[in-house]
Amino acid sequence: MTARLVPVLIFGAVFAAAAVLAALGYLSLRRWEVAAELQLRERARDTAAMAAEKVEMAVIRAGQDGVASLQAAALDPAFGPDAVEAWRARNPLFGSVYLCDRHGRVLYPTRLSRDDAEAVAALRAEISQKFWERGGRRHLEAQGHLVLAAVIPGSSRGPLLVGLRRDEQVLSREVLEKTLGGTEGKGALAVLDGAGRAVFASRPLHDAAPVLTVPFGEALPAWRVALYQPAGLSPRDMVRRQTMIFMAAFALLLLVIAAGLTGTYRLGRRESEIARLKSDFVANVSHDLKTPLSLIRMFAETLEMDRVPDERRRREYYAVLTRESERLSRLIDNVLDFSRIESGRQRYEIAPGSVEPIIHEVLESFRHPLEQQGFKVDVSIAPDLPDVPLDTEAMKQALANLVDNAVKYSGDGRRITVAARPDGDGVSVEVADEGVGIPLSERERIFEKFYRIGRSETQGRRGSGVGLALVKHIVEAHGGRVTVDGRPGAGSRFTLHVPGGA
Ligand code: ADP
Repeated sequence: MTARLVPVLIFGAVFAAAAVLAALGYLSLRRWEVAAELQLRERARDTAAMAAEKVEMAVIRAGQDGVASLQAAALDPAFGPDAVEAWRARNPLFGSVYLCDRHGRVLYPTRLSRDDAEAVAALRAEISQKFWERGGRRHLEAQGHLVLAAVIPGSSRGPLLVGLRRDEQVLSREVLEKTLGGTEGKGALAVLDGAGRAVFASRPLHDAAPVLTVPFGEALPAWRVALYQPAGLSPRDMVRRQTMIFMAAFALLLLVIAAGLTGTYRLGRRESEIARLKSDFVANVSHDLKTPLSLIRMFAETLEMDRVPDERRRREYYAVLTRESERLSRLIDNVLDFSRIESGRQRYEIAPGSVEPIIHEVLESFRHPLEQQGFKVDVSIAPDLPDVPLDTEAMKQALANLVDNAVKYSGDGRRITVAARPDGDGVSVEVADEGVGIPLSERERIFEKFYRIGRSETQGRRGSGVGLALVKHIVEAHGGRVTVDGRPGAGSRFTLHVPGGA
């Protein structure tokens, strides 16, 4: 009971440890997943923020340059609408330009549309007295548009209020393209306007999904920079993939551990089974040796004391002596051959020969026990049997083991058939009985060393359990094989297939 409990406890402990490991691994994986996603997002946010800053600076610089060059032009006493037109031609970024003096007189555009008039009015309303005096630049919202407002000294006319409205197409072409066009990496950077439309994208966005957006500063207030990643490359997807790989590797590891444990457990069980079979083997062999020996001794002593006056009985006793000594030497041969096979020392001397004399010789050696136990033996040997390469002694032993088993496991069906016939270019020899038969599930195992169906005590028939292992080894050394068929309860049939020499 305790011997059985120990492996169960060990396996339980290892499985429990593996389960704890798996649970801990899973928890830390989840934690890593969250942290890794956060980190990847952080990195993406940094990229987008840097892009936003670059764009913002470029826009501000373009505004500053525009205002500065306009200021330079305004210092000219001849500064007028023509000079503004010329300036506009040089600065296409600014789609609309408004210029007015402190008294509200609009210097540019010369022909004011209603929109323009409203824009200028809105612009003036936003400009404080202080701004007129101090000068400077501001981004303002006028008529729903972003306008860069600046007060510049305007020669003799006094300070001028400048309003510059950017042209989005030119902005995209001139500023965004130049600043973000060369972005490397798998992601795409896009600039979204106030309505969420992409004004610019560093590469086509069709199969990409937005990961995050960051706002610009006051130069592009409602606009945002968006970072897009191609499908499957977003931080979440990447982390998911890594997690899946980790999980799969972990599952594989657990599987290997489980397989290893099961393998070790099976090996252990097999070892203890072999140990048990070996001890059975020793007990069985000792008993098998004892039985013929005590018979030989008893009959020899009786004969020696001259207590058998009857000639017929005397002959009978001699026959018993011969039969039992043959049985003894067969048993000893089996054990010795088996030990030679186990240590790899067994050699076969194979030369072309006929199986017919082998069959006759083996049956002759069993004649007494067969007759005595009332067996009927049918022998059928095909007349055209070819010679096959064989080790005569080994083949005799294999056949003797089969006949011995047929006798041992015959029960009440006392009929044995031995047949030999051509089989391909070789020969097949079969030994069939009408005895207890062999269950289908045992037909592989009976050829294993020490294996016996049921325990020898319950079976009631003594044996060492190595007979069929020897038969298998011998016939395989001849390049052949041994098969078994028949029905449980209605006998068995063993066939040796011995190939020809071709
Ligand atoms: P054993 O010395 O026990 O006969 P074997 O290796 O010759 O050892 O046979 C292994 C087992 O196969 C036997 O214990 C028996 O259970 C079964 N067996 C072998 N031959 C026969 C047969 N002719 N009929 C039924 N069972 C058989």
